[in-house]
Amino acid sequence: MAENDDLAQRRARLTPEQRRRLAQRLRANNDSLQQATEGNIKHRPEDVPLRLSYAQQRQWFLWQLDPDDTAYHLSSVLRLTGKLNIEALHASFDAVMMRHESLRTAISIDATGVPVQIIDATATLNLLEIDVSNFPPEQRIQQARDEAMRINATEFDLTRGPLLRVALIRLAAEEHHLVVVMHHIISDAWSNRIIVDEFAAHYRAHAEGRTLALSALPIQYADYALWQRDWLEAGEKDRQLSYWRKQLGEQHPVLQMPTDHPRLATRNYRAARHSVTLPATMAHRLQQHAKSHGMTMFVVLLCGFQMLLHRCTGQQDIRVGVPIANRHRMEIEKVVGLFVNTQVLRNVMDDRMPLQGILELTRDAALNAQTYQDLPFDQLVEALQPERSLHQNPLFQTMFNHMREDYRALQQLPGLTVEEYELGEHGAQFELMLDTIEKPGGSIEARFTFADELFERQTMERLSRQYVHLLNQLMEHPDHCLGDVNFLTEAEWNQLRTWGSHEPRYAEAELIHRLIDRRVTEQPDAVALIFEDIELSYAQLNRRANQLAYRLMALGAKPESRVGIAIERSVDMIVGLLATLKAGAAYVPLDPDYPRERLEYMIADSAVELILTQSHLLPRLPQPNGCTMVALDTVDLSAEPTTSPSISMHGGHLAYVIYTSGSTGMPKGTGVSHAVLARHVQSAIDAYALSDTDRVLLFSTINFDAFIDQFFPALCVGASVVLRGTSLWDSETFYQQLITRQITVVDLTTAYWLVLISDFAKREPRQYGALRQVHVGGERMPPDALAQWHNAGLQAVTLLNAYGPTEATVTATLANCSIHSSTSVVGSDPITIGKPLAGRRIYLLDQNLMPVASGIPGELCIGGELLARGYMNQSGLTAQRFIADPFDSHGGRLYRTGDLARWRPDGQIEYVGRID
Ligand code: AMP
Ligand code: MG
Repeated sequence: MAENDDLAQRRARLTPEQRRRLAQRLRANNDSLQQATEGNIKHRPEDVPLRLSYAQQRQWFLWQLDPDDTAYHLSSVLRLTGKLNIEALHASFDAVMMRHESLRTAISIDATGVPVQIIDATATLNLLEIDVSNFPPEQRIQQARDEAMRINATEFDLTRGPLLRVALIRLAAEEHHLVVVMHHIISDAWSNRIIVDEFAAHYRAHAEGRTLALSALPIQYADYALWQRDWLEAGEKDRQLSYWRKQLGEQHPVLQMPTDHPRLATRNYRAARHSVTLPATMAHRLQQHAKSHGMTMFVVLLCGFQMLLHRCTGQQDIRVGVPIANRHRMEIEKVVGLFVNTQVLRNVMDDRMPLQGILELTRDAALNAQTYQDLPFDQLVEALQPERSLHQNPLFQTMFNHMREDYRALQQLPGLTVEEYELGEHGAQFELMLDTIEKPGGSIEARFTFADELFERQTMERLSRQYVHLLNQLMEHPDHCLGDVNFLTEAEWNQLRTWGSHEPRYAEAELIHRLIDRRVTEQPDAVALIFEDIELSYAQLNRRANQLAYRLMALGAKPESRVGIAIERSVDMIVGLLATLKAGAAYVPLDPDYPRERLEYMIADSAVELILTQSHLLPRLPQPNGCTMVALDTVDLSAEPTTSPSISMHGGHLAYVIYTSGSTGMPKGTGVSHAVLARHVQSAIDAYALSDTDRVLLFSTINFDAFIDQFFPALCVGASVVLRGTSLWDSETFYQQLITRQITVVDLTTAYWLVLISDFAKREPRQYGALRQVHVGGERMPPDALAQWHNAGLQAVTLLNAYGPTEATVTATLANCSIHSSTSVVGSDPITIGKPLAGRRIYLLDQNLMPVASGIPGELCIGGELLARGYMNQSGLTAQRFIADPFDSHGGRLYRTGDLARWRPDGQIEYVGRID
């Protein structure tokens, strides 16, 4: 005090000009000088309203948002073994509370509506005493723990003090647990240390019959809070703010950590922990590395964390919150209160940057941050006005803290052994935090604290392993690029390969028109096709298809030629399709309802030579030169042979061309060969467990490849196909058709299915006839749809989620959602798209085509034997999307879907979204 007064007097004698120059010099210099000279925080005058500090204001705001949140409870438990002097305990706590106003502070709103600190002049300890000694000895520890947790979990009312809660739990005559819980608004970790130390000193003195005389505190927290406002308002705030504005920019991207489970509506998560130890040798090398590059260990460890976050999220702009003790002014060193501040340390990196370069950026940011550390975090938030959200912390969403373990053994008390233990469970302040703790033996504990509801433990194990790996790479290969650091262990890579493959078993699959011939021979009279009032047996359908096939061949259809199908939904449409394949040619769906220009483009692009249609459609259709139009309703085929034509062809010949709109530009035609179609049909028969007793609904239009899954597998296995008519069914019509047609298997688009089950769920539960299985695909299946499925009384029906781009032949992966939903509680976890169907290999790759680790989104790429030949007339695009499979030594191809997906811990694939 005397020293500070002296300084103040000397300053008062300076001329204004001298004072201005001094201020300039102080600013230019580092802040230690500034602290020594400017930091004379004064005791407050009487009767001023005790405004909250900025940090308190933030706590007040958070508490009002959610008073039950325990994330900002600071708790510690002391285990006291030996003879406890309760009177000394009381007296010691009273003394500590007397000394520190914070421990007697509550918050109130004053007449002007401003929150202020209300300090109780006399508050004494209200010690809660709990006895668990009557429990059997083996249960007492747990009981004590439960009690401590309960005490910690009890919410504070910030408007009613004290915001300090102390409980003594008696386990036995000579064993007690002392639980101390405070709200963060009056304290911080540093304060906790002060309280424990002072308590111990008082207790010792009391037990020895002395009174402890601590030198008076120069100021109290409320003084600091007022001073802080004045100082910052006098210009310091603007100066520091302008740095942070520049440093953090206008955009404040939110860190999108890929979580294992969906985020909850509130931010109340349980905190869980996973630690990994960096051995002393490694820690030593890190230290050396830091030193030789003029930086601290903190910088290296933070950089590793930032790089880890980049690799997990793919985001370039990484922001991490870092707490700083903020005790660099002498007067506040021993004061209990909320001093800790938080800084945002930003680093912008990309995959092509060398590790060392990224490290240097971390260092620069950290050095600057030190110079501008007094600006309270809340002021920064207020100034930058990032988009506020209840779910996310503003400006940063994860924290990093580097500390040295306190070596000081807890001061021993007379007759008592004291140990500190941590209460396991807390609310999680953030989804993810990393503490690195330098241990006395030289090792470093890297402790990940994470939201238990969001992350699996094994994900944290993986993250911590990758963190250590990144740090090692940083030391060993500082010139390597971040994107080239391989994250997968051999075992993980093998695991992913196993998950991703379903080896081909259908290499010799018979082409489908030949397979259908077999069924015709085996079961000529079985029902093949049902359309409105018409039922066709296998033999009847086959005869008609054969006759048309001969005509098509006579008109020039042959392997590799393209036949357009511009027919309304009818038996003729099916006959035309089969006839085309029987002629060895490829079909091209030409929906007569499509705009004329689009049809013209598709006809020209796929070089269609023959178009099958109906006479009433002819006026609507383009009829380019050299293209033969065949109207199936008027053509007389009675003279054509009815036996199956025998043509010479091989599996590589084209079977169909399907045009997908493509988000930009012209539609592109995907061409699939006969052999691939045949193999896919085999794998679909197996995956859908189809048999000749099934009645499969053909719901899709012919334009989409879903049509293929709803038609060919059924016909190839000898089942019956029920062809929907021209009108789209509403939910009741759908239901009536299910019942009257005794349909067993249905394949629907996700959108239609959602409407259907929501309509069904609104009604009384009812029977669904013979229905045994429903496949859904085309879009992401929302998790809550399973609840609707159950409400509709459909839980006995197998539900499959089917995923697949046209380029990898209809369905590439399949998930059985029934397994998922049978676990009574229908969870909110995303529904997976399951595992690959036979003949596909699935890889999830990053931008460099390196496999991503489990849990991290990557581009879904499909390899194996069942890819399309490519796009019609678009060799450039084909080469871009169908690339050489980097993991296949036999020269296979890989299709890049542009879909993002990630591996779940059980090896199922979760669809995440589109890349673009
Ligand atoms: P298409 O090539 O027209 O069959 O469209 C395939 C695209 O639809 C895929 O690349 C996905 O983006 C999307 N898709 C298909 N099925 C699913 C599904 N079950 N879940 C999520 N997205 C799907
Ligand atoms: Mg599809």
